[in-house]
Amino acid sequence: MYDFIVVGLGLGGWAFTRVLDENRKRFVVFDPCRDNASTASAGVYNPVILKRFTMAWKAAEFLPYGMLQYRRYEMETGRRFVYPLPIYRKLASAGEQNDWQAAAGRPGFEQYMDGIRFENFPGIEAPFGFGITKNTGLVDVRALLQTRCRQLEKRGLLMPEKFDYRKLQIGANKIRYGEIEARRIVFAEGFGMKRNPFFGHLPMTGTKGETLRIRLPYSGWPVIKSNVFLAPVPASDEYLTGATYEWEDKTTTPTDEARKILTGKLEKLYSGPYTISGQTAGIRPTVKDRRPLLGVHPEYPGLAVFNGLGTRGLILAPRLAKMLFEHLEFGMDLLPETDIKRWEKS
Ligand SMILES: Cc1cc2nc3c(=O)[nH]c(=O)nc-3n(C[C@H](O)[C@H](O)[C@H](O)COP(=O)(O)OP(=O)(O)OC[C@H]3O[C@@H](n4cnc5c(N)ncnc54)[C@H](O)[C@@H]3O)c2cc1C
Repeated sequence: MYDFIVVGLGLGGWAFTRVLDENRKRFVVFDPCRDNASTASAGVYNPVILKRFTMAWKAAEFLPYGMLQYRRYEMETGRRFVYPLPIYRKLASAGEQNDWQAAAGRPGFEQYMDGIRFENFPGIEAPFGFGITKNTGLVDVRALLQTRCRQLEKRGLLMPEKFDYRKLQIGANKIRYGEIEARRIVFAEGFGMKRNPFFGHLPMTGTKGETLRIRLPYSGWPVIKSNVFLAPVPASDEYLTGATYEWEDKTTTPTDEARKILTGKLEKLYSGPYTISGQTAGIRPTVKDRRPLLGVHPEYPGLAVFNGLGTRGLILAPRLAKMLFEHLEFGMDLLPETDIKRWEKS
């Protein structure tokens, strides 16, 4: 008998299965290992919201633990996933320069916000300079997840298929799926949770995001951010630009409309030549109150959910995975704002 079945191997499933390995638990994972929100992401880790110069929820607190986990996985697999890089936030006015400096001086922010710099990037006009971040960068999420899929496949722990909810049998102390028996099941399906009959009622809104992959005649640029970001794609000579936020369309089909929006914004930032080499779309698992969705089913304690990673899955997933594991195995409390109990009717 397994300890856990895990459904979904995006950043959520990656982080949760890493905790299971760390604790020597027996598990099996269901995921077709195709594109998902995680592989569509830009892979930026940065706790500061660069629109308002505020800190994202728990981001500064969780980031060091997350980076440790990605680094550990690099050491274990001998592959590179983490690319530390500053983000250059283009400042639009003298007022924004003041705001940057004021924010960078606040306690806790000095670890992530550096000074203002004037630097020349051909095609980019920045008369007010750039606010520079530190302790930020990129994770090559596609390589991270492909490596995990292959690794679990080799260990015979991957079922490369969709989990069929109708086949799940729930007993008093165990669950069964075909021939597979386990003590618990953790659902980490990202926006796919909407189809889950046990947790699909939770208020996940989902926000579609699209990015363009482009070629520029320049290499070695950092991440540059204004209305859009321009980020180097790890281990390639291309860049990503994005992302859009769309609340109505819940498909993962790239659209002409997003392409127009993104090229329009890119051309406001950068006036030089470029060619588009690709376009991808994914649905961010965003929640009505912008907090993760963790916890057990009110009727079936063998069923748990790990979701709602929203727009900053990279930073949040490793620490939250550990919290959920400790909740399930040792009865430790979840952060109340992440516990799905907040949505239960009283
Ligand atoms: C355009 C874009 C840019 C982004 N940029 C960033 C960024 O720079 N930094 C950052 O931190 N975050 C970013 N995000 C957000 C980040 O991608 C998400 O927070 C994160 O990927 C969510 O991970 P997840 O594992 O919950 O979901 P997913 O990555 O969607 O993974 C869920 C997995 O579950 C599988 N699944 C679903 N249903 C089933 C089933 N029935 N059976 C088997 N498998 C199933 C799916 O196939 C999928 O592989 C971005 C998102 C988008 C869309």
